[in-house]
Order: sequence, then C-alpha cells, then structure tokens
Amino acid sequence: MTETASTLVSLHGVSKTFANGVTALEGLGLDIRIGDFISLLGPSGCGKSTVLRLIAGLADPTSGSIVWPGASHADHRGEIGFVFQEPTLMPWANVADNVWLPLRLRGIPKRDARDRIAECLSLVGLQDFAKAYPRELSGGMKMRVSIARALIVDPKLLLMDEPFAALDEITRFKLNDDLLALQNTLRCTIVFVTHSVYESAYLSNRIAILSPRPGRIVTEIAGEPQRTRGDEFRTSLLYAELCRDVSHALMTAMHGEDLR
Ligand code: ADP
Repeated sequence: MTETASTLVSLHGVSKTFANGVTALEGLGLDIRIGDFISLLGPSGCGKSTVLRLIAGLADPTSGSIVWPGASHADHRGEIGFVFQEPTLMPWANVADNVWLPLRLRGIPKRDARDRIAECLSLVGLQDFAKAYPRELSGGMKMRVSIARALIVDPKLLLMDEPFAALDEITRFKLNDDLLALQNTLRCTIVFVTHSVYESAYLSNRIAILSPRPGRIVTEIAGEPQRTRGDEFRTSLLYAELCRDVSHALMTAMHGEDLR
C-alpha cells in the first residue's frame, strides 16, 4: 500500500495476537486520509475495536506497522478523540465537568477550560445543559456529552466505536446528521466502527469491509462524497443502491471470499 500526501495514518500488514492466543487481526492494511469519514464494517468479533485501539496507541501490533507521515505517533496521540458505545460519563459530575475531564487530566484548571467547554457543548447542541447531571439526560444527550468530551482536545482524528448502536433509530438518524455537520465544521478525520450496513452507507465516503476473525480488509466501497445528507439522501435510489452494494460485499466477505 502506498501513502499519499494526504495520508493521516496508515496501517501496513498489521496483525494482533493477544496473550490468550486469540489472533484478532492478520495482515490488515489501511490508508486513512485527511478528511476521510471511513467506516469499518464487519461481523462482531472481527477485530474492529482492536483496529481503533491500535490506531489510538492503546495497544501495539504484534507485527506490521502504523505510520503517521510527517509526525511521530506520540505527537498525534494527544490529538485523537475516542468515543465508545457507552457514553462512560461520571455520574457524580455535571456535564461541564465530564467534558472538562481530558483537559483536567492534562493539568488544565477549570477556569482556563471554561470557554472551550462551552464551545464543545455548543457544537453538540447542549449549551444549556452544562450544569445538568448524566441521570437527567436521555441516551442521545449522554452520547452528545461523550462526543463533546472527545472534541475538547481539538482532535485531528476522531475514533468512534459503535457510538450510536444502543440508541433508538430516530435519535440515531439525528445524531448521524449532526455528526456529519460537525465533521463539516471541524474538518476532522473520522474512523467509525459499526456493524450497520445502512449507517456506514449513510455516513461514509469510504466503507472498509473486514473479514471474520482474524480481521483484515477484504474490500473497500466508495460512499457518497458530499457531506450533507438528510432525508432526501436517505430515501434516494442512490442510497438504496449503495446499501445493496455494501450489503453484498459484507455477505461475500463473511463467506470468506476476497474481493480484492
Ligand atoms: P469487534 O470490535 O469487531 O467486535 P474486537 O476487536 O473487540 O472485535 O475483538 C476481536 C477479537 O479479539 C474477539 O474475539 C475478542 O474476544 C478478542 N479480544 C479483544 N480484546 C482482547 C484482549 N484484550 N484479550 C484477549 N482477546 C481479546
């Protein structure tokens, strides 16, 4: 695989075997370009979360390499935001304090973080909820807080691990649209793990399909490049065709055929 001028990070022949002998990934290659919204789509247990953890530097590959052209990984580590399926908020802290956490861990006092916290809450539409506690919020709002917390470090790269999987469909659709608008505003790169064909086709300009474990990318499908989707796209023939193509590729990958 070749890195291009716009490569943010690329994975070359990455394999990961855990101490218990489970090989989660084998020979995975992926070139993530600046500004991508790339979905990693594959069956449960195929290693999608492991890919995110390796990119974040939370674990190391057993073999292969992860290359950040132009800067060392250490430089980038501080510029990565991570959003998990569970919002993982501190129940005893209000929304503002939850969002402050990554900066607090870097030793930045609340008074210096106040403007940034307000800015991030406003980016996710929660400017009026700074003083609310997690128990007072809906599932969708908790996820918005979790996204605001990830944004507080002004990440170049946002890693999202099935962030909307536990939400009802209406909330999920709304968050999908808001996430695209957010990326449009912030111009960050997003790697998004999902097992939903429809969500990946809606959100991404690239859909990377993984094989069953040990995971590797068996094919990639180009999504729609434009950033504004909305109801018109969701009900369009173009979207229906894209979902069909992605679904077909996923089925093929699950039966062990390499489409490359
Ligand atoms: P996915 O996100 O696609 O569901 P994961 O990356 O979470 O898959 O896991 C891939 C495989 O690796 C699974 O079989 C999982 O049980 C295993 N696994 C993940 N993390 C660990 C770990 N820390 N130790 C041992 N096995 C692990």
